[in-house]
Amino acid sequence: MSESLAVGVDIGGTNLRGVLANETGEFLFREEEKINTEDKNDISRQVIKLVDDFCESAEIEANDLKGIGIASTGPMKREEGVLIEPTNIPLDAVPLKKPIEKKMNIPASLINDCIAGAMGEKEYGMGSERDAENLVYVTMGTGIGGGAIVDNHLLLGESGNAAEIGHFTVDPEERLECGCGKKGHWEAYCSGKNIPNYLRMRFSEIGYERVQNSLLHDLVSGDYSEIDARLFFDAVRKEDGLANQIAEEIGSMNAIGFGNVIDAYAPSLITIGGSVALKNESIVLPPIQKQVKDHIRNLEPEIMMTPLKEDVGLYGAVAEAFTSSNQSESRYL
Ligand SMILES: [Zn+2]
Repeated sequence: MSESLAVGVDIGGTNLRGVLANETGEFLFREEEKINTEDKNDISRQVIKLVDDFCESAEIEANDLKGIGIASTGPMKREEGVLIEPTNIPLDAVPLKKPIEKKMNIPASLINDCIAGAMGEKEYGMGSERDAENLVYVTMGTGIGGGAIVDNHLLLGESGNAAEIGHFTVDPEERLECGCGKKGHWEAYCSGKNIPNYLRMRFSEIGYERVQNSLLHDLVSGDYSEIDARLFFDAVRKEDGLANQIAEEIGSMNAIGFGNVIDAYAPSLITIGGSVALKNESIVLPPIQKQVKDHIRNLEPEIMMTPLKEDVGLYGAVAEAFTSSNQSESRYL
């Protein structure tokens, strides 16, 4: 076989995406399907089937592959390759590494999807283009998370949870509770899942009289339990006054969050992905770029959207497959 190939898999809340890729990050085949969650072994079976399909399409044997990299939302036991009570998957534990390695007889490796994002960016995205030795990838989607490469070294931390930046505190008044149970965390205010909570809290503080004159009222016919992040950003785009005011507040908290990231990791480059940021770049990005300098001690890095878009985790899974298959040559660990 002339070129080195690996499989990258990205397990999201509802879908499983996979690619067969070469070492330069070219996707030769890709597939996407809904994840099955009836049995704890369903997802590993799906990954095995996916790899078999890719091998058939490429007319190769599984043994020809360098390995399988799997990026997933956590929490997880990375070394054991097991998801533990994963968010959005109604199972206590999802073993991946062992059943896949046993069946396929090639190395399989599990990594937090935010950390995978940093690897994807470093190896195949803007980190590669800038030759950045210090970079952070920030995902702003359902939640807020990150992955950091410092001095060319990927930070993993205990159980692979090194850059839980979404749980940095941005509100010392602790007005909103986070999904993790603590209060005042960045993600509790600015993530796709929690922006509606922030809106409802601000509505009660601002007064419903003003809210009733806003598009935010009209879009849900006054039923504020129905409001979601997508409707909110629609109202901002339509230049609704209240929506824009709240967008500025969220932008200011995002700037504080990014300021913390910069002072913690001293990156020369930060790239941003995740559905909230990717779909609303013109609203989310400018306040961060404009205000972050008010909060930092370290040098201001370049801050931009990831050019790898929603595939950044898949690229990271591919990078993980290639690097973990030969630890002695790994540039990160
Ligand atoms: Zn939290």
